[in-house]
Formats: sequence, C-alpha cells, structure tokens
Amino acid sequence: MEKKKWDITIIGAGLAGLTAAVYLAQAGKQVLLLEHGSRLGGRAATDEQNGCFLNIGPHAVYKNGAGLQILHELGVAPSAGELKLGGRLVTEEKIHDLPLTAFGLLKSGCFSFKEKAELARLLTKISKLNPQSVEHLTLQEWLHGAVKGKNARNFFLALARLSTYSNSPMQISAGTVLRQYQLSLGGVYYVHEGWQTVVNALGERAAQVGANVQTGKKVTAIRGTHPEMTVQLADGTEIATRNVLSTASPSKTFELADAKPTSQLGVLCDRVTPVYGAALDVALRRLPNPGTNFALHLERPYYFSNHSHTARLTQNRNHVVLHIFKYLSAQEETSAKRNRQELESFLDQLQPGWRNELITSRYLPRIAVTNGLPTVERVRNARQTEVPETVVSDCPGLYLAGDWVVNESLLADAAYVSGKEIATHILRTEMSHLSLATGARC
Ligand SMILES: Cc1cc2nc3c(=O)[nH]c(=O)nc-3n(C[C@H](O)[C@H](O)[C@H](O)COP(=O)(O)OP(=O)(O)OC[C@H]3O[C@@H](n4cnc5c(N)ncnc54)[C@H](O)[C@@H]3O)c2cc1C
Repeated sequence: MEKKKWDITIIGAGLAGLTAAVYLAQAGKQVLLLEHGSRLGGRAATDEQNGCFLNIGPHAVYKNGAGLQILHELGVAPSAGELKLGGRLVTEEKIHDLPLTAFGLLKSGCFSFKEKAELARLLTKISKLNPQSVEHLTLQEWLHGAVKGKNARNFFLALARLSTYSNSPMQISAGTVLRQYQLSLGGVYYVHEGWQTVVNALGERAAQVGANVQTGKKVTAIRGTHPEMTVQLADGTEIATRNVLSTASPSKTFELADAKPTSQLGVLCDRVTPVYGAALDVALRRLPNPGTNFALHLERPYYFSNHSHTARLTQNRNHVVLHIFKYLSAQEETSAKRNRQELESFLDQLQPGWRNELITSRYLPRIAVTNGLPTVERVRNARQTEVPETVVSDCPGLYLAGDWVVNESLLADAAYVSGKEIATHILRTEMSHLSLATGARC
C-alpha cells in the first residue's frame, strides 16, 4: 500500500479524465491520474506512421461545441484548419455533387422536384427548430412525420450519421440529432498534426497545475467508499484515495468495482448502448482523384474525407491522410472482413488506383465512437432525475465521466463537458464534507 492518500484518483487519461484532472488540480486537490495505455489520449490519440499523422478514425472539432469552449477556458488552443463545404454524394448508380446549399440542391440530379422542395423546407425548418421539442421521439419516428420522399429521407439520414457518428435511427433521440446537426452547421475543424496535440497540451496543463499523471498503469479494482477508498493496480500496488473518478466505460467500471447487477452501476450498464464504427485510415503518396476530398453515400452508411486537404497531417506536403468510415448499426451484427471490403470498394469508386499510392493503412473493425447512445429513454431520464448518472449514489465517493454521459453535447464534447461537470460536483461535495467536519468540531 502506498503511504500517500490522494483526494481524487482518476482512472483513464482520455479527454474526460484529462479535463477533470485540470479542473480538480487547479482547485488545489491532490489528483492522481492513471492511464492504462503507454500514452495519453484514449480514443483521441494520434499515431504517427511514416511521417503521417493518423487519428483513430475521422476526428473533427465542432467549432461552436462546448469542448472547444472548455479547452479555451483551460488555456488550450488547438491549431486547426476549417473544413470547406463541398464534396460528393454517392448513389448506387452515380456520383453526384453533395447538395449543401439551396442552389446545390436545386441543380442536383439526385432528387425529384418534389423531393427538392421537401428537403429545402425541411433543412430550413430544422436549422431553427428547438431540439428539446422532439427529444421524446426517435429519429425514425420524427423523420417519418417530417419527410415523405425516399431519397430526401435517405439524405437527411446521411447528414444525421455524419453529425452524430451513429446509425441507429430507431433508438437515438431526434432532439440529440437535431442539436448536433445544428452544431455542425457552425462548421468543423481538422486539427494540425492530429488530436494528440490537443491531448498533450491538456496533459501538460494538468501537470502544470499539480496533477500527478502516470501512463502504463492499469487499474484492476476499486474498493471501499468515501473517504476510505482503494484503487488496485495490475502490479499489485494499492493506492489510498478519498474519491475515485472512473472514465473507463460503464461496463469496465462495473467490473472494476465488482458491482452487483442490481446496483446503480449494474442498471446503468443495462441502459447504456455503445456506438461502434469500422474505420479505414489511409496515407497515400498523392490523391489519384484530387477533385474529390469529401463524400457521403446516400443509401449506405459510408463516409470519406481527405483530412489533409484541410489540416497539416503529413511531413511531406504531397502526401495525404484519408479516413473512410462505416457507421455500424446497434441492431445489426456485421462482418469485419466484409466491412473492410465495403470500405475499400467505396475508396476504389472515389479514388481509383489508390492502392498504387499507398504509404500506410490501418483498419479498426469495431471501434467505440461513443460509449453510450443518447436514446429517447436516457435523454428523458437525464431531464427528469436530479442525481446525474455520473454520481454512483450506492457507492459514495465513486464518480463517472466520459462521452457516454447524456448532456447537451455529443462525442468528444460530451467527454469534455462530463469531465468538467463531475469535477465541479466533486469539489462541491468535498467542500460540504469539510464544512460538516469543521461544524462538528465546533
Ligand atoms: C472512429 C472515431 C471517430 C470519432 N470522431 C469524432 C469526431 O469527429 N468528433 C468528436 O467530437 N468526437 C469523435 N469521436 C469521439 C471521441 O474520440 C471520444 O468521444 C473521446 O475521445 C472519448 O473520450 P473519453 O475520455 O470519454 O474516453 P476514452 O478516450 O476511451 O478514455 C478512457 C481512457 O481510460 C483508459 N482506461 C480504461 N480502463 C482503464 C483501466 N482499467 N486502468 C487505467 N486506464 C484505463 C483507457 O485506456 C482510455 O485512455 C470519435 C471516436 C472514434 C473512435
């Protein structure tokens, strides 16, 4: 057992853990941040391969998102390029221009006149619609009432997948989709040299304000309750701490805490469904078809983007980093091999001859894009309950954070927000423990 007792031990140095560490340490708490991996960042890390920076699948920062505001508040300013609108819309028969403006929609050969009118009405209406007014409906239910034409409906589903990275219209709350779609209208950035630069800046900030950040430390158990808690590491070390904040997925935290299925953590695990995607990350010597830098498929859940068209991601200026992605559905079991073939065929269609230009590639068959889909039920619960899902009330001193938390944000933004919110909650709770203790002594 190590002698020192920490105020808060944080499990996981992804965006949620790093954010919480900075807020807690700068408020004067003794913070220990333990990361299993050999580097910081979790799913926001970047790999450098042959002079090319590959994020873990396509990663974009929402210009008006809560995450960027939090980063600025913490003194971190990502260096990034803004994505310019434009690209291709692929159908089974043809490759069209992506209709992202009223004029583009008008001249698109992809939709009937009736569908164009319907889409124009829909896109104008939803840019102003209050997302909360449709939170009680699934995307499918809402879309059924809002759009009749098949291609018009498919187009909105493609935009919904693009904004939310999910392909579960029968579960996801329409309110979440609309909020995220509206956010994406404000624009997105691709980060120069990848998201690792943001992660490293956050890590440096955490260390500056006094957090003890350690990599290569796998937590294997969480025991006890506030203020006598223990975190056990894989090498057998036991760490004494008043509080534990876990940013591992709810199911991993359930195992670490050895919780009962009927406990709050058990119920949470039943409720939270992760969202997965298949990612093909590719670096090429040059782009065979330089006119196509971005594409969506109308009928299939495919995405393509040349991120180096916007951000500096290669040491050699001619080289390019592409991300090709399939949004996996929560209901369907899919084959990793077939998904890879589909992604490669999509790339063949957009960039014929790409294999001759290959520098390096990486295939991630089933990566969790977010650890929890904001379903109608979870969004409703989050509005109605006073105690958030992140406070494990049947295990005082145990807290949770991560991108699975339902707040007004999604994806990385949800991770940053949950990290900030739980840090604020822990500080308030510690303060009330302190006043109770001093009050009792008086
Ligand atoms: C393919 C893909 C594309 C994405 N695109 C976007 C995008 O365009 N825009 C966007 O905003 N978001 C995007 N995201 C989502 C974003 O990357 C995540 O929401 C965010 O990185 C999650 O941060 P987190 O801290 O919640 O979780 P994680 O990054 O998973 O961090 C949890 C950390 O805990 C550590 N850990 C787990 N168990 C233990 C243990 N027992 N002991 C010690 N450490 C442990 C893990 O190693 C990990 O580092 C994308 C994600 C993926 C996968």
